[in-house]
Amino acid sequence: MKVKLNELPQAQQNELREELLTQLSTTGDFLSLTRKHEFLMPSFSFEVINKVSSSKCLVSVLDTGIIIFEPLSHDSVKDIVLSSAVHGNETAPIEICSELIRQLILGELHLQERVLFLFGNPASINIGDRFVEENLNRLFSGGHSQDQGHGEGLINKERHRALLLENTVRDFFEKGNQVSDKRERFHYDLHTAIRASKNDKFAVYPFRHEQPWKEEQLQFLLSCGINTVLLSHSPTTTFSYFSSNEFGADAFTVELGKVKPFGENDMANFSGVSQTLTRFISGQDLQLKDYVADDFSIFEIAQTINRHHKDFQLHFADDVENFTDFPVGTLIASDGDVEHRTKKEGEAIIFPNANVAIGQRALLTVTPTTIA
Ligand SMILES: [Zn+2]
Repeated sequence: MKVKLNELPQAQQNELREELLTQLSTTGDFLSLTRKHEFLMPSFSFEVINKVSSSKCLVSVLDTGIIIFEPLSHDSVKDIVLSSAVHGNETAPIEICSELIRQLILGELHLQERVLFLFGNPASINIGDRFVEENLNRLFSGGHSQDQGHGEGLINKERHRALLLENTVRDFFEKGNQVSDKRERFHYDLHTAIRASKNDKFAVYPFRHEQPWKEEQLQFLLSCGINTVLLSHSPTTTFSYFSSNEFGADAFTVELGKVKPFGENDMANFSGVSQTLTRFISGQDLQLKDYVADDFSIFEIAQTINRHHKDFQLHFADDVENFTDFPVGTLIASDGDVEHRTKKEGEAIIFPNANVAIGQRALLTVTPTTIA
């Protein structure tokens, strides 16, 4: 059923709202509702009394894939955004978030902080693909309105969705300031990668504009099972950079392993991240390990290789894993007449994708570094 909400008479809208509220508060299954109403959902809210702590929280559904939890029995100090399905086929993070949402709605998990969950691109979840028309994670920080090719209006649903997600995150963080004026803001944008990785899980730390990288955030990632971090040294149009840059949030693009269809993920492989996020939103001690530099593999970007020609080729096999390094001078890509070679000791490839549209990024190379 594709609901065109504004075309429905008011009475029918209200009926749908009631129906959704009943379903959601009974099952806690926001993912199924989101998938059933992939383009639009009427907004509604309800209160939940926690079965364990008897504390109250407010659950607000703002639109399809967009749900906020706010404590009502105490003041929170953190505003936490957990996004998944910015790429619709990256199912493991969707399942992790769906389970946290279910436990919160059914009152099985205590809510300590304000949390916004986002299923980024519900339409692409439903077709089991990375995106419908355009890579959503290249459309933030105003990217949705650039290179439109014509004047007004956003040219596809992903661009509308990017704008909606930006506005939702902005409102969420600003509303936190009404709870207390000293807030901590976080955004973990959860993904899985297209190909396997030598370092199974890793995170991209968005450009901080000369502010220091935070050891404590790396400790948090480590407790999620992530010891590999890629430092970004320039602004991008990713979702995590948007939250970091515009709202000072501690934000990361978190890659949790390789893409698999729903039901084929070995959830034991994600117990670290599930457990740490559970502790984080419910206010339990995170039990972070002391910071030891040797616990981490930290990289920075060496080369960004964009595809400029129809004739573009990667010169390594499809099954070469992310973070595989090549000797200096190795030919890694050719783009028309242009040859791209490794230039530095330990230079490794990451996120290769020869099939991107012309003008887009086809490959990154990285080299080892430290945050000191
Ligand atoms: Zn992704």
